[in-house]
Amino acid sequence: MDQLTEFLAKSPHIRYATPESPDFEELRLGFLINESNIPAIVIRPRSAEEVAALIPVLTKNNLQFAVRVGGHDMFGRSQVTGKVTIDLREISHVNVDVESQTARLGGGVICMDMLEELQKHNVTTPFAVTPSVGQVGWASFGGYGLLSTTYGLGVDQIVAAKVVDAEGKIRDADETMLTGIRGGGGSLGVIVEMTVKIYPQDQVLAGVIFLNSEDLAAVVKQFNAAYSQAKQEGLPSSLHLYQAILNGPVGKTLSIFFMWSSSDLEEGQRWLSKVSSWSPVAVSTVQPTTHKDFAAFANSIIPTHTYGTIFTINFYDLTPEVLDVIGTHGPRQPNNPELLFGVHELRHDAPREPNLGTVFDNRCAHYLIEIIPLGSTPEILAEGIAWGKEFISALRKTDDKNIIPSTYISLTSPEEVDMNKIYGSRYEVLKGIKEQYDPQNVFNNTLARF
Ligand SMILES: Cc1cc2nc3c(=O)[nH]c(=O)nc-3n(C[C@H](O)[C@H](O)[C@H](O)COP(=O)(O)OP(=O)(O)OC[C@H]3O[C@@H](n4cnc5c(N)ncnc54)[C@H](O)[C@@H]3O)c2cc1C
Repeated sequence: MDQLTEFLAKSPHIRYATPESPDFEELRLGFLINESNIPAIVIRPRSAEEVAALIPVLTKNNLQFAVRVGGHDMFGRSQVTGKVTIDLREISHVNVDVESQTARLGGGVICMDMLEELQKHNVTTPFAVTPSVGQVGWASFGGYGLLSTTYGLGVDQIVAAKVVDAEGKIRDADETMLTGIRGGGGSLGVIVEMTVKIYPQDQVLAGVIFLNSEDLAAVVKQFNAAYSQAKQEGLPSSLHLYQAILNGPVGKTLSIFFMWSSSDLEEGQRWLSKVSSWSPVAVSTVQPTTHKDFAAFANSIIPTHTYGTIFTINFYDLTPEVLDVIGTHGPRQPNNPELLFGVHELRHDAPREPNLGTVFDNRCAHYLIEIIPLGSTPEILAEGIAWGKEFISALRKTDDKNIIPSTYISLTSPEEVDMNKIYGSRYEVLKGIKEQYDPQNVFNNTLARF
């Protein structure tokens, strides 16, 4: 640590905070409150060059570090007690190139800030349902969201990246490295810039349909029976639905995040009427809007900081057996307003380039279940965790032929990360790329562990 202190003393332009600094707590705080995960120092580089100068100081002196942006890892993996945190949030540029239909994003940009910048150019790119996450961390490990059926997952948008490697060199990722980044995230280096595809955006139709859920179990079945039928008949690629059980304005409800991401609002209204006819609606907030404004709304219903954790499982289908379990445990969801149950979906018709180099393996049509106990105090959280454990355990006991072995690494606890299962057929590829670009495993404090 002495050598790092010396380096920082000689580099007054590089900002940092230690536990004695007045802003340390604020800088350390992530989405989840964690009083015991306390890094020795938080360093806040403002450019790729500053990151490049820092990395060799850390590696030569065997100083372990982790990279942090949105701080939304559900298991606190972006900070390590007693180690160095590299906080990239100051590297947050958004440079739009309308001609090539791409945008260069600073490695530390927050999804919501990115959407605000893109909106100024009337363009968009896929984003997280809750856009307080870091865009690079979201996209590079998979990136599920409400635009996956229209434009693909977050990983599918990545066309280039600038990375500070284990030797402290700033390099433009070649195709092999890009393949590793698309699914392996920051396990090869610090991603100081990512170039993503952008799409023209006018008004869209989006919001949440809160279904009348006095009999929640029945509503879950009724809605999904109609949805499944509509899928068989064919759904437009502009329509994406995310199901959640929220303790919302009208009590505990099955709530449908509705996204119609096409400027043909008349057709969108027809689909809104159709979806709204599948089960009686209590309240709907769906209206003509923009991705940015919808994202701001989605952000507003999630706390900024909270105690919490997550349980997850992937299914090929929401079978009657799975819906029964949801119908049993959904109504038992504790009443605190923060906690929720949600279902991401990758539809069979989601677009993807067939030859895109990626190690993200889970490309079949599937449903990603997220059971998210959150609570403003550890006591409130404990009640949520008890509920979540029973719920996930019941889901894991359903027909194993319908359970996908791979889970989403971002939502999988470190104890349950099985690299073989998560990366499946792509694991050997990722291992080979890791050996090529980071043979010393310098970037070991990330989600993918080798
Ligand atoms: C409230 C909430 C909502 C979410 N919603 C969604 C969703 O809709 N869809 C979805 O797919 N996921 C979602 N997630 C999961 C989220 O996308 C991942 O946890 C993501 O990794 C968070 O990135 P971050 O920068 O906010 O987190 P951090 O904790 O700062 O970072 C997470 C990991 O990414 C690495 N990382 C991030 N940026 C870089 C970089 N520039 N260079 C190198 N490594 C980097 C970090 O080192 C760390 O290992 C959600 C999580 C939360 C808490």
